[in-house]
This record gives sequence, structure tokens and C-alpha cells, in this order.
Amino acid sequence: MLVSAKEMLQKAKAGHYAVGQFNINNLEWTKAILLTAQEMNSPVILGVSEGAGKYMCGYKTIVGMVEGMIEGLGITVPVALHLDHGSYEGALKCIEAGFSSVMFDGSHYPIDENIAKTKELVALCNEKGISLEAEVGSIGGEEDGVIGAGECADPNECKMIADLGVTMLAAGIGNIHGKYPANWPGLSFETLDAIQQKTGAMPLVLHGGTGIPADMIAKAIDLGVSKINVNTECQLSFAAATRTYIEEGKDLQGKGFDPRKLLAPGTEAIKATVREKITLFGSANKA
Ligand SMILES: [Zn+2]
Repeated sequence: MLVSAKEMLQKAKAGHYAVGQFNINNLEWTKAILLTAQEMNSPVILGVSEGAGKYMCGYKTIVGMVEGMIEGLGITVPVALHLDHGSYEGALKCIEAGFSSVMFDGSHYPIDENIAKTKELVALCNEKGISLEAEVGSIGGEEDGVIGAGECADPNECKMIADLGVTMLAAGIGNIHGKYPANWPGLSFETLDAIQQKTGAMPLVLHGGTGIPADMIAKAIDLGVSKINVNTECQLSFAAATRTYIEEGKDLQGKGFDPRKLLAPGTEAIKATVREKITLFGSANKA
């Protein structure tokens, strides 16, 4: 059964660790992440962007796949199925389709409009027992056509949104989606600290987890980050392992062209990345 991310994130905040949100793209991705979370006895959040939602033939297809897999693979750790960077309409569709968590990314709206729309969704999510993530201050880089400049959020605006009753809050602290450029100045811990002071027990979310050095991750968790999003890193590991398989000519040997064989090294590579992240975030054995 899918669960809201509320309890797992409140426990993470209190216990000074973070739960990973790993974005999914297909069956192999989902299976790799669920099996690894189960193996490590860790709670897990499966992230779905609107683009990935379309790719996987709609939110209902995804709910069916994930629920079926939880049953079929005997997954007993807490699993939340979460819309990543949702529009207002996207959030409504996911709530309807059976997601257990949604993000409404109103960071590109003026703060008053972000507040008004977030407020409406808080009421709806509370009624359904679904967790809601809000965002203040856009996150750098590009994700499914959403481009952010990587600004630092205003701690006072963070408090205004947190006070609406959202479950968790994403705030820009200089983080970027995708690969970090060589001249990236790093996370702004000053901003994170100020946000945490203002928002108290609210679990904070760090987007763009790919390529942030381990010591910065540890410090961010120390300063109140309890959910870290990982997307690009699984894509890079999958692509590298698949490339090796083909470059070694394995698809040309015997039944190496069988998709179950062709996609196996990439799937194993996702597992290795997820394992590494769960260890780094400290959520192993916290299910
Ligand atoms: Zn993000």
C-alpha cells in the first residue's frame, strides 16, 4: 500500500537523516528502486515528473504499476508515490489517480498566488491524507522544461508557505537540477540555516541531489533537510552500464538482444546508485 510521506519525513527530521526521492521512468527504474529500499529496510519516495507521467502513459498507469509491484515483489517498507514539480492541474490529476504525495511547484508565481494555490491544495490533501510539498525560490537548471535560475529562497516567504500547513518544503539554496557546472559556488548553508530557524520542525527538501559532495549533503541534513531528490544520477548510471553492455558486443552474443538481458546491467547500476544514496542519507534500517 502506498503511504503519505508525512510520517517518514517527520521521523527523518527528528532522527537527523534524509529519505531519498528517486524519480522513476519505467518498470526497470521502479523495480530497481523498490527492491533496493526493501533490501536496505529504508523508507522511499518514488518521484514522477509531469513529463515522466506522460511518458509512462498517465498517472493511473503509474499507480497501477507501483501498487502491483509493491504486492508482487512483497515490498513492506513505506513507499510514497509523489508528483515532482507539479502544476496545480497536475497535482489535482495525481490526487485523483491515487498518488499518495504531490508537489505543487508554485515558485514561478508571485508569492501571493503561490500562497493562494498552495492553500487550496493543503485543504484537499489534508482531506485525502496525502502529503504536499511546496516550493519557494526556484531551483536552478532545467527539469522537464521548467527552468530555474538557482536563486536562494527568502526565509520569510518560506515561513509564510510553511505556515499554510504543507507537509514538506523545497527551498532554493543555490542547488541545481542536472549536472553541476565546474564553477558552481556550492550550497548556501547560511540560507538553509535561516530557513530552518524560521520553519522549525518542517521537513526541508533538497532538489538536485546529483553531484552534491557528500560533506555538503551531511551538513544539509544537519541543518534540517529530510528529503533529497535524486534523478539525473540514476539516469547516468543506467546509461553508462547500458553503453558498456553494447560496446562489449554482448547484445550480439546468444540471446543478448533479449530486453530482459539488455536492460539488466542498467537496472543493476540504478540499484547500486540507490544503495549508495540510501547509505549517504542515513535512511537504511529506518523503515
Ligand atoms: Zn526538483
